[in-house]
This record gives sequence, C-alpha cells and structure tokens, in this order.
Amino acid sequence: MTTSGDKLAALRAKYGASHGGETFDPRFKAVAERIFSGDGTRLAPYAGVATLLGAPHMPLGLADPAFKALQVALIGVPMDLGVTNRPGARFGPRALRGIERIGPYNHVLGCAPVFDLRVADVGDVPMASRYRLEQCHDDIEAYFRKVVDAGVVPLAVGGDHSVTHPILKAVAQQGPVALVHVDAHCDTGGAFDGTKFHHGGPFRNAVLDGLIDPARAIQIGIRGSAEYLWEFSYDAGMTVVHAEDITRRGMDAIVAQARALVGEHPVYVSFDVDALDPVFAPGTGTPEVGGMTTREALALLHGLKGLNVCGGDVVEVAPQYDSTTNTAQAGAQMLFEILSLMVSSPFVSRRT
Ligand code: MN
Ligand code: MN
Repeated sequence: MTTSGDKLAALRAKYGASHGGETFDPRFKAVAERIFSGDGTRLAPYAGVATLLGAPHMPLGLADPAFKALQVALIGVPMDLGVTNRPGARFGPRALRGIERIGPYNHVLGCAPVFDLRVADVGDVPMASRYRLEQCHDDIEAYFRKVVDAGVVPLAVGGDHSVTHPILKAVAQQGPVALVHVDAHCDTGGAFDGTKFHHGGPFRNAVLDGLIDPARAIQIGIRGSAEYLWEFSYDAGMTVVHAEDITRRGMDAIVAQARALVGEHPVYVSFDVDALDPVFAPGTGTPEVGGMTTREALALLHGLKGLNVCGGDVVEVAPQYDSTTNTAQAGAQMLFEILSLMVSSPFVSRRT
C-alpha cells in the first residue's frame, strides 16, 4: 500500500522540476505542445493580430490553392442593413475577433478544433455597397458559393440574421439541409416595409427557396411578443421549442428531439446570440428576457456531437450595447462550440 509520503515523493519527482509546459496525458500533451514553446513560454493571448478564435489569419483569394486546402473557413459578414430595431451587428465580427482565450481545448467534446482542423480566419465578405441590403445579400451568396464550391465548410460571424439566407443559398446547392436554429425568434416572418429580406425572415425565405427541409428543422429558445409573426414555422412543419419548454422539459430531452429530427442529414447550425438571456448577452439588437443561460446553450450544442454539420453561423452580436463585452465573449464561445462540432462531423472530416 502506498503511503501518502510515497505519493508526495512521486508527485515531486514527476512535477517538481517542471518548467510549466510539460504534460503527460497524451490527449492533453498534443494540445500543450502546440501552445508552449520548447523552453516553456507561450504567446500572450492579448498580443498580435486579432482573429476569430485565434485561428491563423489567411486573407486568401478564393482561387488560391491554400484556400482549397482548408476544411473550415471562419468568415466575417459585417452587414446589418436587415435589422428591425437597434443597429450595430455589423461590428459583430470585429467584436468576436477582440475576444481572447476561447479554446484551445474543449473538454466536453474532446478536441482542440483550431488545431484539429485545417481552419483559418479568411477575413470578411467584401460588399459592393454598404447602403443596399439586397445587393449585400447577393455579394454574400456569391462569396459563400465560392467557399462551398472549393470544398470548404463555412462558419460565419454576422452581421444580422438576414445574412443566413444568402449563406444557405450557397450551402444547400445539393438540396435542402436540416437546421438547428437557436434564437429568441423564429425569423419566419413575411415581407414588410417593402422587403422580405430583413432579419426577421431568413428561415421563411430559405424554406420557400427549398434550402431547408422543414421536417428536419428545429428552432430552440423562442419567446417574446412576436409569436403572431411565426405561423409560417407551424404551417411549414418546423419544430418550435419555446424558452419555457426548455425549463419544463429539460435540455436533454430537447437535444434528443433535435438529434431524432436531424438524423444523419447534413445540418446547418445557426446561433442568434439573442437566444441567450440579456443577462448573458445584452449586446444585441432585439433582446428578449426569459432566455437561455450560457450553460444551457453549451449543453445544447454539446448534445449535437457527431451530427453531420455542414455549416454554421453566430449572428446578432452588437457591441455598442455590450458594456461588459460579455455578449461577444458568449458569442465567441458559441462559435468555438460549433467549430468543435465540426471536428466530429462526417461532412467536415471526409474533407481530407
Ligand atoms: Mn435571429
Ligand atoms: Mn433573434
């Protein structure tokens, strides 16, 4: 039987002379060796050029061979001409780039996605005009089509939620995809004020364009006073999970429901940061009280491990209303979780 003295001596022998970067468990060692230099130093998280999740910055032309070698591209979509109330989500990509210390290791999903995948922050979608919503959507669709056609899986940062419709036009070229949509709002409203392309309607537009299979679409976290706008979701056969259902049923049951709906189908994961309660994410254009905790959102995304994720986004971070930067922090974490899901997604991993 080992005495406590023997145990202490063994620990001292193993760790006493460590320089700090040594790690013994092979799962952790592989990560640590990417982070620490040979002499035990590591880069300061606040130094250098800011990128999404600290991924390499690769402002490549889409025809560049190095671009085609990526598995996943992190893409900023700084456009908020589709908002119905408070503007500012055009600053979302910059806000998320300014967040440090997301990752490297995801202990729940068992991966270090920025290292496990060939992934880069490829910059922002160029827009021909900052003034024209529909023109911006055309620019977004054209850019994402080139990404998808190059065999690269897109993970976007908005921007308001209207950007998801042109992204889905690129992602769902082979046929309708399944959808896991986390939001306070169904975003299946119709046209008003002369356009249907606002941020309250991308998922109606996407269903009507044949981009989403409504029978494989689940919208989670729905609440607020706009329910009267969402009849399309029910009419189309989408599954709506209200915020109060999360409390009543528990997240495990909702995860099981989402997994049963999606199956092995290619699935797009869209995370509107206003799904979170304003306590956690005040920095957004249309906040709604009574929302998800960050812990609930993490449990939901963790529950999607192994699904055939073919793209995703985090949208609606508006840093002007985010005095603590907590919204950007939460948004960057959700981006990290979706990227982590891509490590275990057959859709991504078969892109060798
Ligand atoms: Mn939304
Ligand atoms: Mn919303």
